[in-house]
Amino acid sequence: MAPSGSRSVKRSCQRVLYWIPVLFISIIVAWSYYAYVIQLCIESMNNTGEKVVCLLTYHVLFMMFVWAYWQTIFTKPMTPVKEFQLTLADKEMLEREDRSESQQEILRRISKDLPIYTRTMSGAVRYCDRCQIVKPDRCHHCSVCDKCILKMDHHCPWVNNCVGFSNYKFFMLFLAYSLLYCLFIAATDLRFFIKFWTSGLPDTQAKFHIMFLFFAASMFSVSLSSLFGYHCWLVCRNRSTLEAFRAPAFHDGADKNGFSLGFNENFRQVFGNDKKLWLLPVFSSLGDGCSYPTSLVKRDAEQPPIPAGHNSPTQSTGDAPQFPAKPLRESQSRLLPTGHSWTRNEQVEDQDTRGTSNPAMIIENET
Ligand SMILES: [Zn+2]
Ligand SMILES: [Zn+2]
Repeated sequence: MAPSGSRSVKRSCQRVLYWIPVLFISIIVAWSYYAYVIQLCIESMNNTGEKVVCLLTYHVLFMMFVWAYWQTIFTKPMTPVKEFQLTLADKEMLEREDRSESQQEILRRISKDLPIYTRTMSGAVRYCDRCQIVKPDRCHHCSVCDKCILKMDHHCPWVNNCVGFSNYKFFMLFLAYSLLYCLFIAATDLRFFIKFWTSGLPDTQAKFHIMFLFFAASMFSVSLSSLFGYHCWLVCRNRSTLEAFRAPAFHDGADKNGFSLGFNENFRQVFGNDKKLWLLPVFSSLGDGCSYPTSLVKRDAEQPPIPAGHNSPTQSTGDAPQFPAKPLRESQSRLLPTGHSWTRNEQVEDQDTRGTSNPAMIIENET
């Protein structure tokens, strides 16, 4: 078989295997539905009022959980718009250049009108040679998806998708509703679980479903609460998981709070301004995914504010960009000086990176 053929077979197999964790979760959820609705509520509860309240609350939580999970899995992660892609001429020019300084010069020229504030740790323009794009702030290349993902948080095997700008709110709601779902099951199952150990339950198959349901719900509650707590902390600080591990680098160096705008604004960056949409898994995050206000630029009067209602995601490559109307160059210049001051810094950087074959093409070690 031709090597390319075997590669595509391998990739197809991988693609199928990646769905196994999602299938596992789906089977657990389907079983929990049967165990809770049929075995616990219908078979074991004698009080009609309790039965109705439990069934109604359960179905609301179940629906919200499945909706958020679905949205997290099937929302396509967004990639940078075409303005960040190199033109054919630029690509050829970059490939022709051997000297890192010249490559950096080309990348700086390409990126000078783009709303970019971050650089690599060594001060180079963040460039992905696999996708051949200048990376927008907070964008990272995912090795599983094999593309650059806007505001990439992490690649999640449990949803078989990249969690990033387009579905981070869905992911948060998925964690929240799955935690509520498990806590609700554990709380309403507890009384029957105690009866199981005190031999108060009739000897039917329902008792085993009730026991395992309590174990599963409690176990998932513990792991989900720690994960949800961690992501709440990240949202409050406007950090992605990747940024929590490695702070984004600005002109003055790495700043882990570089994108933090205060608790209220940070929350709204993910959940939006419309309170009615906060608890629903529909897209309401602010911005376009390619440009982000930073705590450093916020103090700059020249920085245009994000327009109210500026909350619909742009499509990937092909659509018009939704950058602030005014180029950010003036405010940017305070963060990422071009020309003389940058060159002076670069000379220092170059001494540090001398010996590496291609410092201009530094690709961050990303997941
Ligand atoms: Zn990439
Ligand atoms: Zn991915």
